[in-house]
Amino acid sequence: MKKITAPKKQKKWVSWNKNVQHPYETIVKVTKEQELIKAVSKHDSVRVFGNRFSSSDICAGTRALIDITTYDKIVRINMQTKEVTIQSGATLEKLLNVVRASGWCIPCLPDIDKVTVGGALATGTHGTNGYILAKYVSKFRMIHADGTVHEYTEEDDEIEAVRLSLGMLGVISEVTFKCESDYKLHLKEEPMKDKDWVNNLDLYLATYDFVRVLWLPHTNHGYVILGMKVANDFKLEEKAYPSYLKHRRKTSQMLYKKASKKPRFTVRANKILYHLFFTPKKEHLGSLYDATVTKSRAGTMELAEWTVDYTKFKTLFAELKEKLDDKANNAYAHIPMDVRFLKKDGVWLSNAYNADVVTMGCVCRNAEAADAYEAFDLIEEVFLKYDGKPHWAKRFKAKNKELSKMYPKWNEFEAIRKQLDPKGKFLNEYLKRLFVK
Ligand SMILES: Cc1cc2nc3c(=O)[nH]c(=O)nc-3n(C[C@H](O)[C@H](O)[C@H](O)COP(=O)(O)OP(=O)(O)OC[C@H]3O[C@@H](n4cnc5c(N)ncnc54)[C@H](O)[C@@H]3O)c2cc1C
Repeated sequence: MKKITAPKKQKKWVSWNKNVQHPYETIVKVTKEQELIKAVSKHDSVRVFGNRFSSSDICAGTRALIDITTYDKIVRINMQTKEVTIQSGATLEKLLNVVRASGWCIPCLPDIDKVTVGGALATGTHGTNGYILAKYVSKFRMIHADGTVHEYTEEDDEIEAVRLSLGMLGVISEVTFKCESDYKLHLKEEPMKDKDWVNNLDLYLATYDFVRVLWLPHTNHGYVILGMKVANDFKLEEKAYPSYLKHRRKTSQMLYKKASKKPRFTVRANKILYHLFFTPKKEHLGSLYDATVTKSRAGTMELAEWTVDYTKFKTLFAELKEKLDDKANNAYAHIPMDVRFLKKDGVWLSNAYNADVVTMGCVCRNAEAADAYEAFDLIEEVFLKYDGKPHWAKRFKAKNKELSKMYPKWNEFEAIRKQLDPKGKFLNEYLKRLFVK
C-alpha cells in the first residue's frame, strides 16, 4: 500500500498499525449529534474515523476529519423487542456488555471487540457462521452530505445499501441492533490434516452451530473449532491448559520478525508454532462473546481477507495451498489463516450477497514489512480467479475495473451514492479509485 507520509510539521493521521498515514488540517471530535451534523455540513471534503483498525485506506485522506470515538452513548434498550440503540462511536465491547447484561446476544461476532460500531458496520465486518454484523441492525440514523438526517428501517429498500457503505452514503449517527436470546456454546478444538477438515466441511456446517478453521499453511494442518449450543445448565469440567499457550501471538511475532528478512524461514516458524500451540486438543464452554472473541492482542498486524462462493472453496483451497507451498512463488503465509463461513444476505456491497460464502483471512504479523509480504498478492490472484471478493477494511489491490463486476448491485449503489453525495464530499483518493472510474 502506498504510504502518504505527512511532512514533519504537518498534522498527521495514523492508522492503528501505522501503515496508512495522511496529513490533515482539522480533526473535529464530536460528542453530540448536532456537532456531527455541523461538522458534516461545514466541510466540503471530510471522512469520519473510528478506532483506526482498518488496513485499507478508507478512513482519512481529506483535509477535515471527524473523530467519532467520543460519540459513544447507549441511547435506548427496549426489553420488549430485544433492541439496543447506540451511538456509532461506541466500541463493540461497550455494546456487547449491555447486550449480555440484558440476557441477549448478537449471534455473529468478529474476532475483535475494540472496533467501533460505526467502523464495523461500514466495512461489512462479520464473524463465524451467521451474517455480517450489519444484518442484525433494524434501524440506522444517518447524516447525509447536505446535513439532513434520515432514519432507515427494514421497511426501506435502501437499507440494504446503507448496511455496508464505507461511510460514503453518510455518517452513521445511531444504530439499533436487534438481539437474540443469549446461549452457551460447547466448543471443541483440535488439529486436523487439511484433507480431512476440507472434506468434512459439509458435514460440520450441517451439524454444528459454530465452525471455524484456523488454517496453518505450510504444515498440512488446520486447527478446527466446532461448537454446539447447549442448555444453560450444561456443565463441563474445564481442564487447565499449559500456561505457555497464552504466549502464542508474542512467539509468532518473534519468529516472523526473522522471517521478514528470510521469507523461507516462515515454513520452519509455522511448524514450530503448530507443534507448540496448535497440537493440544481443547474443550471449553461459554457465550459466543466469551468463548470466541479475542479481548487483547500482543501487537499490530496487517490483514487481508478474501471471500469465495462456498461451492468453489474446495477447488480454490487446493490451488492456493499448492501455490503457497511452491518455493518458486516465494509467497509464505503466517499462521493462522482464519477460515469462516457466512450465510447469504441481500446487502448490496456484502461479500455474501446472494451466496453462502467462505472467508479466508491472511495475516502479516510484521505490519511494517507488509509491502514485501508476497502472500497478499498470491492470495488475491487466486481468489480473483475464482470470482472472490476482498474484505473492504483489509488490504487488496483490485480497483474499480475488477470490483464493479463483482457486485450485482454495484450500479444501484453508485446511483444512490451520487444522489446522496453529488460532490463526492465523502470520497478520499483511495475510494475514488474503487468507486469512480
Ligand atoms: C485485529 C483485527 C481483527 C479483526 N477481526 C475482524 C473480524 O473478525 N471480522 C471482520 O469482518 N473484520 C475484522 N477486522 C476488521 C475490522 O472490523 C474493521 O477494520 C473495522 O472497520 C474497524 O473498526 P474501527 O472502529 O477501527 O473503524 P475505522 O478503521 O476507524 O473505520 C473503518 C471505516 O468505517 C468508516 N466509519 C467509521 N465510523 C463511521 C460512522 N459512524 N459512519 C460511517 N462510516 C464510519 C470510516 O470512514 C472507514 O471507512 C479486524 C481488524 C483487526 C485489526
